[in-house]
Amino acid sequence: MSLATPDGHLKKGCLVEEREASILIKGGQRKNQLRCDTDSIAGCVSQRACVYCGARVVLNPVTDAVHLVHGPIGCSSYTWDVRGSLSSESELYRNSFSTDLKENDIIFGGERKLARAIDELAERYNPPVVFVYATCVVGVIGDDLEAVCKKAASRHEIPVIPVQSSGFIGNKSAGYRAACDTLLRLIEPRSADCSSGKKHETKSVNYLGDFNLAGEAWIITEYLRQIGVEVNTVFTGDSKCGNIKKAAGASLNIVQCAGSMGYLARRMDEIYGIPFLRVSFLGVEDTSASLRSIAAFFKDLRMKRLAEELIQRESAAVKPQIDSYREKLRHKKAAIYVGGGFKAISLIKQFRELGIEVVMVGTQTGQEEDYRTLHDITDNGTVILDDANPSELERFMTEKGAHLLVGGVKERPLAYKLGVAFIDHNHDRKHPLSGYAGAVNFAREVQDTVCSPVWKYARGTGGGIYAGI
Ligand code: SF4
Repeated sequence: MSLATPDGHLKKGCLVEEREASILIKGGQRKNQLRCDTDSIAGCVSQRACVYCGARVVLNPVTDAVHLVHGPIGCSSYTWDVRGSLSSESELYRNSFSTDLKENDIIFGGERKLARAIDELAERYNPPVVFVYATCVVGVIGDDLEAVCKKAASRHEIPVIPVQSSGFIGNKSAGYRAACDTLLRLIEPRSADCSSGKKHETKSVNYLGDFNLAGEAWIITEYLRQIGVEVNTVFTGDSKCGNIKKAAGASLNIVQCAGSMGYLARRMDEIYGIPFLRVSFLGVEDTSASLRSIAAFFKDLRMKRLAEELIQRESAAVKPQIDSYREKLRHKKAAIYVGGGFKAISLIKQFRELGIEVVMVGTQTGQEEDYRTLHDITDNGTVILDDANPSELERFMTEKGAHLLVGGVKERPLAYKLGVAFIDHNHDRKHPLSGYAGAVNFAREVQDTVCSPVWKYARGTGGGIYAGI
């Protein structure tokens, strides 16, 4: 059954009524009035992760930290080694320590158990920082993390910082903010040199919202080095406690994943006067535009020239490969469901580079501004939706005839059950999708999966791929 009327409006009764305000069809009567950035509707299964998970994915790439989860063991195992973030040194972050709260702790409180766990970890690993995550259970039993961490910090003379990510305080975005607040507590005030204005003489940036999946932060750091920009701190890919402490010394914050790090950028602007630029290093077009905007910020003619040279060189190197993939992808249709708005915007441009039509686009945590842009750049008839549930994703993909879904790990089974190709654009992947090399990887992956012969056996069976094989 079609979900849309012939003139492009959503049909009444096809969806849970309260969800209608979070979905629109481009070109329909409602002009870019999409409800977003709100809590999920009770009873609708959201694809969003929990508050704790939101905080954990942001902080986890801090490689030399102890990440201690105060909660039942399940919270910790669910997020164990949660990102494909690479480290150039410490591997401590790949552990998922837990206080393993049980019934007794829930009745009598878990504070003493938490203090003992911090002591044991501090003595065994000698870390420069301990992050202590609150989970749903902590929100219910009311353990005072702040007090326990403060005493532990003075016992061990290291920062022991509570991450206020207990459940019921909001959605995944609240977890992002909790992580950013934690990072802010670690950043040290600027040195006298920086405060006196000398920081503006340096060309250094903090790179926010890159988690060094498959080494992506290293690729971008190398581009920036080539145009004369030093990366001071990456938040948080391959970062260490020491790098984060000196983040206030940068002249500019560039923000890749604004959904998770926009808040940190705004707070650093307020506290330290560090301006920020939104960038995206996904796809040739956005990578080139981002390098140009960074060079423009510094008003440095040499940097502008170096950026243009790099853009010409790298674009020319990848163009033949991308063109060859485009030939094979003509008339294909893609659906996008990702975490943040900026990634969705970049993906639409990348699909255009490949000649693919985007028929559905949605995010878990997109902001009003992101959805305005998505509305502007999509074609008439595109379904735009916020905080979707699996049933909506399946129905829109089917109706729109999508050949491919780009999403995260939770969306993969949805696509495969429908016999639709899938690309993981989230934590777990092992190959970089950023920068020029990443654009080729992305195009190759799209081609490999969309053009795989498996789909002709899987489709039309009525039961998706599992029934078809
Ligand atoms: S914090 Fe709550 S929702 Fe998140 S994994 Fe733990 S129990 Fe589940």
